[in-house]
Amino acid sequence: LIKHGQTDDHIVTTCAYCGVGCSLVAEVKGDQVVNLFPNKNGHANHGHACVKGRFAWGYANHPDRLTKPMIREKITDPWREASWEQAIQFAADKFKAIQAKYGKNAIGGLVSSRCTNEEDYLVQKLVRAAFGNNNVDTCARVCHSPTGYGLSATFGTSAGTQSFDSVMDADVVMLIGVNPTDGHPVFGSQLKRRLRQGAKLVVVDPREINLVDSAHIKADFHLKLRPGTNVAMANALAHVIVGEGLYDEAFIDQRCDSQEFAKWKDFILDPRHSPEETAAITGVPAEQVRGAARLFAGGGNGAIYYGLGVTEHSQGSTMVIAIANLAMATGNIGRPGVGVNPLRGQNNVQGSCDMGAFPHELPGYRHVSNDAARATFEQAWGVELQNEPGLRIPNMFEAAFDGTFKGLYCQGEDIAQSDPNTQHVEAALRAMECIVVQDLFLNETAKFAHVLLPGASFLEKDGTFTNAERRISRVRKVKAPLGGYGDWEATMMLANAMGYPMHYDHPSQIMDEIAALTPTFNGVSYQKLEQMGSIQWPCNDSAPDGTPTMHIDGFVRGKGRFMTTEYVATDEKVTRRFPLILTTGRILSQYNVGAQTRRTKNTAWHPEDILEIHPHDAEERGIVDGDWVGIQSRAGETVLHAKVSSRVQPGVVYTTFHHPFSGANVITTDNSDWATNCPEFKVTAVQVVKVALP
Ligand code: SF4
Repeated sequence: LIKHGQTDDHIVTTCAYCGVGCSLVAEVKGDQVVNLFPNKNGHANHGHACVKGRFAWGYANHPDRLTKPMIREKITDPWREASWEQAIQFAADKFKAIQAKYGKNAIGGLVSSRCTNEEDYLVQKLVRAAFGNNNVDTCARVCHSPTGYGLSATFGTSAGTQSFDSVMDADVVMLIGVNPTDGHPVFGSQLKRRLRQGAKLVVVDPREINLVDSAHIKADFHLKLRPGTNVAMANALAHVIVGEGLYDEAFIDQRCDSQEFAKWKDFILDPRHSPEETAAITGVPAEQVRGAARLFAGGGNGAIYYGLGVTEHSQGSTMVIAIANLAMATGNIGRPGVGVNPLRGQNNVQGSCDMGAFPHELPGYRHVSNDAARATFEQAWGVELQNEPGLRIPNMFEAAFDGTFKGLYCQGEDIAQSDPNTQHVEAALRAMECIVVQDLFLNETAKFAHVLLPGASFLEKDGTFTNAERRISRVRKVKAPLGGYGDWEATMMLANAMGYPMHYDHPSQIMDEIAALTPTFNGVSYQKLEQMGSIQWPCNDSAPDGTPTMHIDGFVRGKGRFMTTEYVATDEKVTRRFPLILTTGRILSQYNVGAQTRRTKNTAWHPEDILEIHPHDAEERGIVDGDWVGIQSRAGETVLHAKVSSRVQPGVVYTTFHHPFSGANVITTDNSDWATNCPEFKVTAVQVVKVALP
């Protein structure tokens, strides 16, 4: 009955949570959504959805929703209600005054991976064309920016290579730093189906995720490495593959840069990368590493899936490169069943990166120093663009302390809660003179804001999301925005109030502009999305129906590029004062900082974040299940309930970051990836002690 569009009371849209991007059907009665169920025709989910998606409509109706714009001169003043026109003018006047006093580069904007492509495109256009600088960044900075760097450097494009369905052709699956059954449940189910059919499984993770040993599924190898040693592990796997002659010589000859391969081969064969030598670093016995490498290289189609356990490290970008090296060395690129597959945490991480929401890249991953690319946008937008990269999120904080960055437009993002070292972030926000927060709820960042604009939920807007398999799917407006306007309309109003004329009647016109200016999107339109249901980019004259599998005949950059990946230990060392390593993850029923899932019916299933601690470490500290424990790091301290579990290894503790009161990011530090500044969320040296009730 409903294929890709809508009937009077059923409207097809896309889940606003994780990077699977399930197609959902909203059932509407009057102006209310009464149910949300999976779309049988959904290309990413084939009629499945998880507990988060099924209940997602709950938060859209929640009484906590912001419905009126509010303004205040100082963050110590009480909020006062304002009309949209007043609030937008108030923000624009403040931004203009800041620029007059401190210079054009003193303001910037942040986009969210929870907003649509069209909204993200408009915010970066606002920053570049109306603010006149490149100070725009996305929350992908704190999750998958190393994916962009690593895959672009090796393959030539910042995206995963496969469709989710590709896993059904995989013979060996390697999961690195990812927990699909909790983080990407619908893909997790598909993966389990393939594993039950007999595909082999290698898990590289410091913690025993469910797939290591669950009903009818047992990993062939669990390389339970120490947090922060991914690169040493990837090098050891590659050392075995090359050293034992298990690499795919024909693929490398035909598809890869031979000089770069020769350099890498010399590097990787050095005995310091052998499993025997690296065992002291990773903590994993050499025989396990050798066995896993032989299985991956010799077991047929090998597919690698990875997540934030790869990217959120001081060597996140190096590890993405190391994964690309492994896939190229084994010839596992360019056909179904193989590939390098970053599982994105948020629904539109891929899209927000595609849309140019980075300080160094215009839409379509074209560097701001590229004269031809800049000229294209200058002509279309009628402005002169800066040719130097702007500020990344952490640079914005530093510049706020220096007194050179004073104003921020923050759409759909809660940096005070989701970025590391909360104390540092809050101090930077306090140092600014105008912060505009547009969100569904009064979030933690709003405490430092001068202007609050009600955000629109995914049920209240038209647009598109791009999931982890580069699939562009429609988001359809099911009901009117509670606050009166969609996020894209607010951005447009602010641009006009800043003196830059911007006008669109509908998000489809924004997509038409994106398509006209971005070669990989040339063939995308709402009309085509209505016909096809979804499209995987690149979609253009060379691929009019999109591209499910990338790099089939050649890499986007031409020849695949092997790059050396030297392991460098993190600065976050354990000491007598901080003897344990804290690492973080997610659970099935909650999504990120929980702002949405805590306001739906699945909330009660997991009311707090909990600290997992190994029995040995617990006993040493006199800790038993359910005790309150204090966790201290170099950055700060918090208190959680303890759960004694051998899922974690001795010396490692683990928690989630879904609840604001548990303050996981109070204890995470400022360390970050050397190439992209993605925070090192996965490795924090801590001490854990039993405490009385907080
Ligand atoms: Fe699908 Fe992810 Fe939404 Fe669950 S949270 S319904 S897996 S998109």
